[in-house]
Amino acid sequence: MGNATESTGLDAFRDELRTWLGDHLSDDVVRAGRRPVEGATLEVLRSWNRTLADGGWAAPSWPAAHGGRDAGVDEQLVYLEEMNRVRAPGPVNVIGVSNIAPAIMHFGRAGQKERFLAPMLRGDEIWSQGMSEPDAGSDLAGLRTQAVEDGDDFVINGQKTWNSMGHFADWCQLYVRTDPTTRKHRGITCFLVDLTTAGIEARPLTTITGGQSFAELFLSDVRVPRSAMLGPLHEGWGVAMTTLSHERAGVARLHLSLANKLDDLLADPRSGRGLGDPRLRERLARSYADIACMRFLTERSLADPSAAGAGGSLAKLAWAHCDQELANLAVDLIGLEALGDRWGENLLAVRQASIAGGTSEINRNIVAEHVLGLPR
Ligand SMILES: Cc1cc2nc3c(=O)[nH]c(=O)nc-3n(C[C@H](O)[C@H](O)[C@H](O)COP(=O)(O)OP(=O)(O)OC[C@H]3O[C@@H](n4cnc5c(N)ncnc54)[C@H](O)[C@@H]3O)c2cc1C
Repeated sequence: MGNATESTGLDAFRDELRTWLGDHLSDDVVRAGRRPVEGATLEVLRSWNRTLADGGWAAPSWPAAHGGRDAGVDEQLVYLEEMNRVRAPGPVNVIGVSNIAPAIMHFGRAGQKERFLAPMLRGDEIWSQGMSEPDAGSDLAGLRTQAVEDGDDFVINGQKTWNSMGHFADWCQLYVRTDPTTRKHRGITCFLVDLTTAGIEARPLTTITGGQSFAELFLSDVRVPRSAMLGPLHEGWGVAMTTLSHERAGVARLHLSLANKLDDLLADPRSGRGLGDPRLRERLARSYADIACMRFLTERSLADPSAAGAGGSLAKLAWAHCDQELANLAVDLIGLEALGDRWGENLLAVRQASIAGGTSEINRNIVAEHVLGLPR
């Protein structure tokens, strides 16, 4: 009885979303979702972000009080399946909506929630995340950008890098060292920083595909008020962990995009060329099976996104492996001709899968310690 009621509720949720997507999603938006986020494409995706938010579909997992739907795990999966089925892009403000918002909901003061969450949900203000530095990536706690108290302000100096969307973002969730005398995980503070503040320069970085998806940030005597702190002074590490645990759960959901890539590969008539080779047939079958397994990992990580990142790390690790193997397989099946089209670009683009959001080596360390129980 309970299950029947639950599945009726889920069916209604799915139907409502399907109908809404049928009424609102255009081919232009689907095409924009496949292109790098820059120039005119950014504006199409920003407008779609607003449409999603106004329809209540930008972040179903958010509390209803903040514009979400209090969606549980099953509904989140239905949401992802339906969006993916019609290749609907999610909110372009994905870093804000998926990663930074949970930290603001958890650590933010009432005034911060009111000020930031609504424009974040609509993509009216795009957010970026300033954690990594030239000498602090995997070892995030080694960050050196420093903020010094000056009356009721802090003055920030330093450099951040790999700041996704940092060259066009409006705001940054910035991690800085506020106490250099204590142990490195302590003495870090998180600030919510307006990127138009004097002293901030964002320089776009060009990636291996030729696109510009991230920036480096140079901060010279940037003055921010004490009220810009998210969470307590010197306790930014806890804010970072909350943010990262949601990021890892977020990337796990990408298994659906892998299933789309596999479908696209099979729909490419040239992919049949390599099927005479039994080794390639076996790799294709393995990719299919790996992607099916990813679904279970995703469900597990969605069910408990705060489990010290371990479930999310496992899913992220598997996703990075599958994405890179599928990219190699596409070129092996089609032949050298693939290097000149979307499969060639994909082959370059997937290199980032084992770096962004925590490298595969770091995720293996986490899985070894927290899933397998091996010693540090
Ligand atoms: C597409 C993309 C988007 C990104 N977006 C953002 C963003 O928006 N904001 C942000 O702050 N950062 C962002 N990053 C940065 C990302 O978080 C870092 O690149 C990542 O954490 C690795 O840090 P690093 O590049 O400094 O490499 P390093 O930490 O210097 O690592 C170099 C190599 O050493 C290995 N290694 C390091 N430590 C260990 C260890 N303890 N055990 C085993 N191996 C180890 C690593 O796995 C890697 O292979 C992004 C990166 C990419 C690729």
